[in-house]
Amino acid sequence: MSLEDYEKKRHFENTPEPSTKPKQSKKSDHQSLIFVVQEHHASHLHYDFRLELGGVLKSWAVPKGPPHTSTDKRLAIEVEDHPFSYANFEGTIPKGNYGAGEVYLWDSGTYAANEDLSKKDNEITLKKGLKDGHLTFSLNGKKLQGHYALIRLKQNPKQWLFLKKP
Ligand code: MN
Repeated sequence: MSLEDYEKKRHFENTPEPSTKPKQSKKSDHQSLIFVVQEHHASHLHYDFRLELGGVLKSWAVPKGPPHTSTDKRLAIEVEDHPFSYANFEGTIPKGNYGAGEVYLWDSGTYAANEDLSKKDNEITLKKGLKDGHLTFSLNGKKLQGHYALIRLKQNPKQWLFLKKP
């Protein structure tokens, strides 16, 4: 889902969230791809898992949060792409707005499909994985570290399983 969906859902005069306008949208200048997890106290508490890819943040809402162990299977619902500048967002989305509630940065760091590949080659691998519904990557965050996978469910293409590898 594109950034257009992100824009359509929000009124930037009413929410402190970043818009996708060039002025406010910072592009990544890191050597590595980044990920972020935001704790979102919306009508239902969930964790938003976001992976930098192609200049945007690919995003999933994870009701129970990221898996802790290799026996956890966490449902992850694919949501609209978020602008790269959303990676730093913390704050309160006011009542009456889409996703109203508090947002806290829960974890952040770098990630890769293959740490031996360049950022560009990682993006090629990850885009293919996203298309095929099978993404594997390592996370190097403060809380999340190790190998993980996101696997799209055949019954509902918006639903993925978020797994931690042993
Ligand atoms: Mn959310």
